[in-house]
Amino acid sequence: SDTAPLRRGLPIPQGISKPTFLSAVDELRKLLGTEHVLLNDKEIKNGWYMESPNTHDMMPLFDSEEFIASAVVYPGSVEDVKLIVKWANRHLIPLFPISIGRNLGYGGSAPRVRGSVTIDLGHRMNRILDINADDFTCLVEPGVTFYALHEELVKRGLEDKMWIDTPDLGGGSVIGNTLDRGVGYTPYGDHWACHSGLEVVLPGVGEKGDVSVLRTGMGALGVGGENTWQCFPYGFGPYNDGIFSQSNFGIVTKMGMTLMPNPGGFESFMYTFANESDLAPLIEIIRPLRISNILENVAQLRHGLQTLSVKGLPRTEYFAGSGPMPDDVVRKHLRKTATGECAWVYYGMSYGPAHIRGHKLDVIDKEFHRIPGCRRIDPSTLPADEYFWSRDRIASGTPDLEELKWVNWMPNGSHIAFSPVSPIRGKDAENLFALARKRHAEAGIDLMPAFCVGLREMHLIVEIVFDAEDAEIKRKAEKCLRDMIDDAAKLGYGEYRTHLALMDQVAGTYSWNDNALMKFNNTLKDALDPNGILAPGRCGIWPERYRNRGWEL
Ligand code: FAD
Repeated sequence: SDTAPLRRGLPIPQGISKPTFLSAVDELRKLLGTEHVLLNDKEIKNGWYMESPNTHDMMPLFDSEEFIASAVVYPGSVEDVKLIVKWANRHLIPLFPISIGRNLGYGGSAPRVRGSVTIDLGHRMNRILDINADDFTCLVEPGVTFYALHEELVKRGLEDKMWIDTPDLGGGSVIGNTLDRGVGYTPYGDHWACHSGLEVVLPGVGEKGDVSVLRTGMGALGVGGENTWQCFPYGFGPYNDGIFSQSNFGIVTKMGMTLMPNPGGFESFMYTFANESDLAPLIEIIRPLRISNILENVAQLRHGLQTLSVKGLPRTEYFAGSGPMPDDVVRKHLRKTATGECAWVYYGMSYGPAHIRGHKLDVIDKEFHRIPGCRRIDPSTLPADEYFWSRDRIASGTPDLEELKWVNWMPNGSHIAFSPVSPIRGKDAENLFALARKRHAEAGIDLMPAFCVGLREMHLIVEIVFDAEDAEIKRKAEKCLRDMIDDAAKLGYGEYRTHLALMDQVAGTYSWNDNALMKFNNTLKDALDPNGILAPGRCGIWPERYRNRGWEL
């Protein structure tokens, strides 16, 4: 693991002197216990994924000390979180809550404002409060990872009865991923849609110095969440949960989540398509199959180059030149793999007992073969270490880490994502692919797109893998991303999620009717967090104290 000295010294938040800050930290130590408050004054370290740091972005797009915490605090209870919020309001010190902090590609654990005090909620608040085997629901604290939830099902002997839905990497937080509206790959892949009920500590302090905690949905009933909290997400009155996702309006301390019944069998399948130009007709075939649930999961249509990169070898093993790897080189190397030469690979899964799967798989096979050159790869021919089996585990609720391998494509491998959403239409897929190709060619960067197809939309995820030690390539990656975001917005495609560094730009693309949405968000921010202490700038929402004072990037 790399280490680097803290070149720029202790990152004190702006507007406060070092002695005042240090005495405030002492006060916080007295409130929570010395061992639960750590100053970030030593060198910063980048561990591997499972030891990821909680002080900064281990995959930095800018200087590694730009998005960095001044201190990290470890609350052990909701009461502790309230104490931290009161303390921050007293001293006007910005807070940044994380659950686990493995938001890699989107900023990792880093705060948006340099010198924020990071609340690492997951470190001590990591209990699975309930798994209800009758209702197929659970209630978790921020530190519960996809791995931990899965292991608990196994421990309780429930893994044959119910599944979790995991993103590509299982080390993230169920709450953190869901709040950032992350996705997984079973029919329960839309995590936000599958949650039911939040408990939230609000950032403001009332006149009597009190901090509010609220529960949403059925958890708002006087008995406080007994009985129906995890069964019905809406409760009565406005449905407020949405304002606590991709925002800075509250600190989530509990969340309910649905679990998927074991469908009674599953079968992964993989098809390859020969030409890049197959993209549009293929997407036209996928749409009706997906909407009618013949294609049942958030499947992935990946570019051939990604199939190569996920083998985990550095790019230099395949190509010594600079600029995007030429197509014929990609194809030459793919020929030697189990996938064979192709432009696109579709990974999917069919659920249910064999006789039910059989019907759906026949329809899919017939429809996909309308594309000339389409090939079904027989899974029984694939070795146990083939990436296909990682997709198989993930789409059947078993967390995995294989996906990390493509990060090795570059030395000091880091990545950042361009993640626009579009309808599931051939023309839209072509538009997005074309603009990404153009901007990648200009920047001299390999293009690795994957289309993740939901029920009415698809997320295109383009991962730019870069060398975190190469300032020039980082500058090019940033320009490439910014150009793609603007190009896409002009055509009516917006990002579903973005990196800290790009939040202002992306928020700015959602500008309809004179920025009406951001004006609404600002109104909420100022009402809920009048001192502007909670995650200033997250998702482009700046509190009044910071707004239009040069913080936007
Ligand atoms: P955290 O980092 O804890 O939280 C994310 C953000 O949410 C925080 O920065 C914070 O702003 C906010 N937040 C967190 N907790 C709270 C709280 N309690 N209260 C208020 N705000 C809070 N992501 C996917 O969704 N799907 C994928 O398939 C996927 N594949 C990936 C593959 C690779 C190779 C890599 C490197 C990353 C991938 N990611 C994917 C991105 C990321 O790793 C996951 O989304 C991960 O789950 C997010 O980190 P986390 O769960 O630790 O959340």
